[in-house]
Amino acid sequence: MFEMAESRGLPEATVSDLEHTFAERCLVPGDDAYDESISLWNSAAQRYPAVVVRCRNATDVVDALEVINAHDAPFSVKCGGHMTTGHAVVDDGVVLDLSPMDAVEVDTDEATVRVGGGAIWEDVNEVALEHGLIPPGIPETAGVGGFTLGGGMGVTGRLTGLAVDNLRTVEVVTASGEVVTASESENADLFWGLRGGGGNVGIVTAFEFDCVEAPRECLVANVLYPIDDAASYFAYFDEIAPTMHEATFPTASLITVPPIPDLPEDLHGELAVAGYAMGVVTDDAVETSLEEFADFGEPHVAMVYPADYTELYAPFHVPPGHRHHWESFYLHELGDDFIEAMLDETLPMPTPETAVSIYGLGGAINDVDSGATAYAHRDAPFALHLVTHWTDEADDDACIDWTRTSHAALRDFGTGGEYVNNQTDTDRERIRAAYGENYDRIAEVKAKWDPENRLTSTQHVETD
Ligand SMILES: Cc1cc2nc3c(=O)[nH]c(=O)nc-3n(C[C@H](O)[C@H](O)[C@H](O)COP(=O)(O)OP(=O)(O)OC[C@H]3O[C@@H](n4cnc5c(N)ncnc54)[C@H](O)[C@@H]3O)c2cc1C
Repeated sequence: MFEMAESRGLPEATVSDLEHTFAERCLVPGDDAYDESISLWNSAAQRYPAVVVRCRNATDVVDALEVINAHDAPFSVKCGGHMTTGHAVVDDGVVLDLSPMDAVEVDTDEATVRVGGGAIWEDVNEVALEHGLIPPGIPETAGVGGFTLGGGMGVTGRLTGLAVDNLRTVEVVTASGEVVTASESENADLFWGLRGGGGNVGIVTAFEFDCVEAPRECLVANVLYPIDDAASYFAYFDEIAPTMHEATFPTASLITVPPIPDLPEDLHGELAVAGYAMGVVTDDAVETSLEEFADFGEPHVAMVYPADYTELYAPFHVPPGHRHHWESFYLHELGDDFIEAMLDETLPMPTPETAVSIYGLGGAINDVDSGATAYAHRDAPFALHLVTHWTDEADDDACIDWTRTSHAALRDFGTGGEYVNNQTDTDRERIRAAYGENYDRIAEVKAKWDPENRLTSTQHVETD
């Protein structure tokens, strides 16, 4: 599948030193496991490293860094490989594939889960749910690493905060190869920078999170309206989302109705506006809030129903290997002018799989001070996400142009901030928007913990 190359631009000595240390866990183009190890969720961002080192633990990361740093080789860190930028894989360099580090340990007394730095949420959820706990993530295949280091808007976000707000402690390998622990009480500056600073300040080999008690079942409110109702529906969403119970996570989206049997056949392929809200506590107040969410206008479909936590993202699930270009920004409010502009600019969407989504944030996410963690965007109750998705490479230009044009036309309605985990274009201005008012402080933490500026394959913060 992928092109063969001897060392793809890396000196042979670097490759042979890594092969000497890691033997069969060092993969080069042509090796059976190389393709799988470098694969990215967004195939449009695929890159090709010279070497992959499959790391089983922090010691492997230290040993790999010793060789990499001795040769001054470019490298990247890969967890789930789901970030649409493709930063987890570096062209012609070394990928530290953390996916073998996927252990999950639950402490039921403390209601915590400790997971390896290469774990994916789907696997963490399975173990945590067996013990009656929901970790602060998502029911998806995305990695814990990238998700958490960018902030992490999980299903329980409005109830207990972002993934970074529920992080107790981390084991980190610094860029120079030192293993340290970081928490509120130990290496607190590093801990601050890891909670929203992306992959800039260290390589996390273990995360320990607080969890919430899992309900017997979760609840979903699912509504679908004709596209002609889009303006009035988003105006309703603007009002209701901030008032909803904190154990809910509301979204409103422009979609093309998928051809699934649960939805009336005459709607398949039609543009529509969809409301989808998840409830992660089963009690009367949450159910009432979801029923109110679903009680608007004259919908095609309006349902409130129980669902397993693992099924909550099922309507949006996309297998790996498709093509994507995502962009986002935060908003203080929607408002008529923005809603009108959003509909004008984004419709028609370039493919039936593409969506324009508004997430209702607020709740515990915004109870935290914007300087308390590196994640800065604590004042915004909404985020817009342009979720552009296609399968045919021939559609790359049209899909990417639509995303860029829509984003450029609408972003002035926003706070100026963007979500680091939902960016695809990452020029300097956009990276500043992602780290917001905390950019300079992240740069200070990076200058201390990565003084040689070795961690660059991420939305990179400049230190000079
Ligand atoms: C289907 C899907 C659903 C999503 N839903 C949500 C959602 O509901 N809420 C939300 O907030 N986000 C969501 N996202 C976005 C998600 O948070 C990002 O894609 C995230 O980067 C994925 O993490 P990853 O470990 O797979 O990333 P990777 O692509 O592996 O890595 C991303 C970046 O983080 C760095 N990195 C990863 N792990 C480590 C580590 N252990 N130590 C140091 N650096 C590391 C990498 O070097 C890279 O720069 C979703 C993404 C997908 C594809």
